[in-house]
Parts: sequence; C-alpha cells; structure tokens
Amino acid sequence: MPIPRIDPCEPDEGCERLRLEVREFLAEALAGYPAAARAHHWSVADPEFSRRLGERGWIGMTWPARYGGHERSQLERYVVIEELLAAGAPVAAHWTADRQSGPQLIRFAPETLAPKIVPGIVRGETYFCIGLSESDTGSDLASVRTRATRSGDGWVLDGAKLWTTGAHRAHYMIALARTGPPDGSRHAGLSQFLVDLKAPGVKIRPIRNQADEDDFNEVSFERVELPAECLVGREGEGWTQATTELAFERSGPERYLSGIRLLLEMLDAAPAGDARAQVALGRLVAHYATLRQMSLGVAGVLARGEDPSLAAAIVKDLGATLEQSLPDVAHELFGGAMPAGSTLEQVADYVTRAAPSFSLRGGTREILRGIVARGLGLR
Ligand SMILES: Cc1cc2nc3c(=O)[nH]c(=O)nc-3n(C[C@H](O)[C@H](O)[C@H](O)COP(=O)(O)OP(=O)(O)OC[C@H]3O[C@@H](n4cnc5c(N)ncnc54)[C@H](O)[C@@H]3O)c2cc1C
Repeated sequence: MPIPRIDPCEPDEGCERLRLEVREFLAEALAGYPAAARAHHWSVADPEFSRRLGERGWIGMTWPARYGGHERSQLERYVVIEELLAAGAPVAAHWTADRQSGPQLIRFAPETLAPKIVPGIVRGETYFCIGLSESDTGSDLASVRTRATRSGDGWVLDGAKLWTTGAHRAHYMIALARTGPPDGSRHAGLSQFLVDLKAPGVKIRPIRNQADEDDFNEVSFERVELPAECLVGREGEGWTQATTELAFERSGPERYLSGIRLLLEMLDAAPAGDARAQVALGRLVAHYATLRQMSLGVAGVLARGEDPSLAAAIVKDLGATLEQSLPDVAHELFGGAMPAGSTLEQVADYVTRAAPSFSLRGGTREILRGIVARGLGLR
C-alpha cells in the first residue's frame, strides 16, 4: 500500500458560507434540545430531522445527480457533518446509509438496483445497517459463517449477524456472506448482499449496551430469499468491497467527535483562572485541533480519489485514544465537584460508559495498528 500524503487542507470560502448555513439551520432545528441529549447523538434517531437534512441537500452530498445526489465536494460534506456532530444533532437514522451504504451501492450495485434505493437515502427516508460482524467473527471477517446459496435465479441466506447498529430501525442491511469455498485465499468466496430487513425469515433481537441503550442487535436469517439483483458487486469480491466500506466508516470526523460534548461541558464548567484546568483542557483542545487537521487531510485524500484506508486508520486510532482519555480528565478535574444531576455529570456518566466502544466499533485498536504497520512496510 503506498503511503498516502495527508496534506494540510482547509475548507474554502464557499465551505465556510455553507458552515454558517448549517449552523443557522441547527440553531433553529435543535432549539431547546437538551445539552445532555446532545452527548447521545450517535444513538438518537429522529426521522423528521433526517428528512429535513435531506430536504436541505445535506445527505448524499457528493453522489451523482442521477441517483438524486448533489455532486458537491468532499470538503463541503466534511463541513456539514462536522457541524452536525459538534452540535450533537440526532443523526443516527440516516448516518450509516449516508456514510457508507449509499457509496457502496453506487459503486457496486447493479444499475437496476441502485436507482431504486439510493434516492430514498438522499431524501433521509431510507436507513441502512452494516452486516459484517458475527459471533466469533469481528476482526477476522474472512471467517464469516453466514452463507448465501444459489436458488433459481436468486439466493437463499442463512446465518446471523451480531452487534448490528441500528438494525431495528433500518430498512436494509448490506451483509457479507460466504458464497463459495476459500479457494487458495481465506478472502476468496465472500460476497455482499442487499437484504430487505422486512423479508420473511429475518429476525432482529435487540442487545442492550453498557450505556443502557438498545442500539445494536443480533440479526438472524432463516432461508431468506434474495432476488438475483441483490448481489452487490461481483460474486466472490465481497472481501475487497467490505474493506472499501470500512475505509469510509473510519475516515470521517465522527472518529474524533464522539465524545466532544464532554470536552465542551468541561470547558463551560471549569472555574476561570484555574491553572490545572487550563493545562489539562488546553492540552485536549490542542490535540483536537491537530486531529481535525489530520481528519481534514483524509477528506483531501478522498477528494483526490486516493485510497483513504491507511490515513483513516491512523486518525481513527488517535481519535479513539484521545476521546477515551476524556472521562479520566473529567474525573481528575471535577471528581466530587460535579453537582448531582448537572449536565456535566450526565454527560460524563454517558461518555464514561460509551468510550470503551470507541476502540472496538469499525475496527479495533490492534487491527488498525496492523493496517498502519503494513502501510509503513513493517509487516
Ligand atoms: C458500539 C459498537 C457498534 C458496532 N456496530 C457494528 C455494526 O453496525 N455492524 C457490524 O458488523 N459490527 C459492528 N460492531 C462490531 C465491531 O466491528 C467488532 O466488535 C469489532 O470488529 C471487533 O470484533 P470482535 O468483537 O469479534 O472482537 P475480536 O475480533 O474477537 O477481538 C478481540 C480482541 O482481540 C484483538 N485481536 C483480534 N484479532 C487480532 C489480531 N489479528 N491481531 C491482534 N489483535 C487482535 C482485538 O483487537 C480485540 O482487542 C460494533 C461494535 C461496537 C462496540
């Protein structure tokens, strides 16, 4: 893998005008939305909010017009999602579809399929979930046991996916399944399918996470019939396609803006002139500023049409490490001084419980560091 250039990259004036437009929209759309709720933006789905974003043209921003997309730049998209995340907007409904399922369909789905589904994503009305992990198969995706077998013109799907975020509210999943033997390479014989989650034989069981949210699920398939056109991409190419999808998942500013609400609350609550707080919070802000530059650089890599995998792995790993340090800083600075029931206490409680997942979802720390080592030619 060639080492990518992560050049400094700043949104231009047009992007900054767009930023103001988004801020103005959010000030109105989220007026009165409680600060503590903004910490949960990941898991809060608000179909009306997603629909309004779609109306503004802020979903599917970079996609071709023939799918309803808006053909805007990667940096314009970056600015919009950065503002949504910084404001703690309830983005969970459309997020996965906008970030990775739409691009997957546009790139790999048959021309008969993508035009039927993608415009609904752009309108903020069609939601997706990611069907990669299974029980005993998270990091080692090549060992998936969900199987699709040919049946007439189509396929029949059997198996189960685990930790599937948002499956309970999604309309579709893109699922990785085994369609053939691993012939020579463990990565061979895998394919991706579009699965309608309302199809007979699909069952969705919620799993409560340690932050007390029902956000991920187990999704089982029992003889689920899939029409031929639901094969996304080419049979046997699932591994390459799934790794492309993971690069989209790892490349956005969400990988360092998951716990930002806690930093904002600490900045608000820190007593003026407190030297300890100034040093600790100043250090965090400096790290955030650096990560933002790196993350913008990844948007630049995408804009140049280059492979963002290595750069995205670096930003995601550094971002997770930084955000996982936030609860400790909050504890050291405020500890017993957090008034019971205050916004700071509620946000610190939530981020403390959610933060361990930051270095698991979308690829664990060890897996990302393996990608970085390979990219540097060390393995
Ligand atoms: C909040 C959250 C949301 C998620 N949402 C989704 C989703 O929507 N869809 C989906 O498909 N999955 C989802 N996942 C699953 C996530 O992708 C997996 O948890 C992750 O890939 C790790 O897989 P695993 O849990 O099987 O752990 P394992 O792969 O068993 O890993 C266990 C430990 O071993 C280490 N390890 C594993 N292999 C190696 C290796 N080769 N070298 C060094 N160390 C290694 C790992 O780093 C980890 O520390 C989600 C997870 C979380 C926490």
